Amino acid sequence: MEPDKKIQSCMRSGKCCEKGGPSLHLEDKSILQEGILKPKDLFTLRAGELAYHPVENKVIELSDEIIKIKSKEGSTACIFYDADRHACSIYEHRPLECRAFKCWDTKAIEDIFFKNTLSRLDLFPEDSTVAELISAYDKSLPPRQLYSLFSEIASQDEAQQEARLKIEKVISTDDAFRKKVIEALGIDETELEFFFGRSLRTLVSNIQAVIDGNKS
Ligand code: SF4
Repeated sequence: MEPDKKIQSCMRSGKCCEKGGPSLHLEDKSILQEGILKPKDLFTLRAGELAYHPVENKVIELSDEIIKIKSKEGSTACIFYDADRHACSIYEHRPLECRAFKCWDTKAIEDIFFKNTLSRLDLFPEDSTVAELISAYDKSLPPRQLYSLFSEIASQDEAQQEARLKIEKVISTDDAFRKKVIEALGIDETELEFFFGRSLRTLVSNIQAVIDGNKS
């Protein structure tokens, strides 16, 4: 992208922070370890999920998971963006992507997008209960399984009804699992999207919204 010759420094328009929180990289690990970013502030896009790639300008299937800072409820703005002050409330500790981002020259951020991304298993010892639970969950309820069931629905044959039932079943299994970890492990509901990604119910409603949007 051609740099805008008129802008060569941050004008604090806040436009970057209004578009959503950054993805985290290995360089951001210490911000979590120091407790500046907490699980409740984050969500995980799991490997196999469909996500928008801003540089390639298309939806891709993620080969590796990505941890991102959440957006404010009902808005795309990063939860740490203070709109009144046009400022970042964790500015001194802002993640790598925020430090690299220059709206007048996107080269630096394009160079790091989707590279050296932080994963949940970078944050917990391999033999910890949380790490084992994350791995087991990803193995038993992977996003790809859901997407392939949706392809079967699109097939318009008798497999369609069976695929719908299977989708309902995986959603119920996921709901039950999430309820259980809240009760058994004391994980707060606001932390679930970090530990186990977005619920399958959310993924299904996102896919459905895309399908409905394509029809209209
Ligand atoms: S962490 Fe701070 S700089 Fe980064 S997107 Fe959020 S508000 Fe903006």
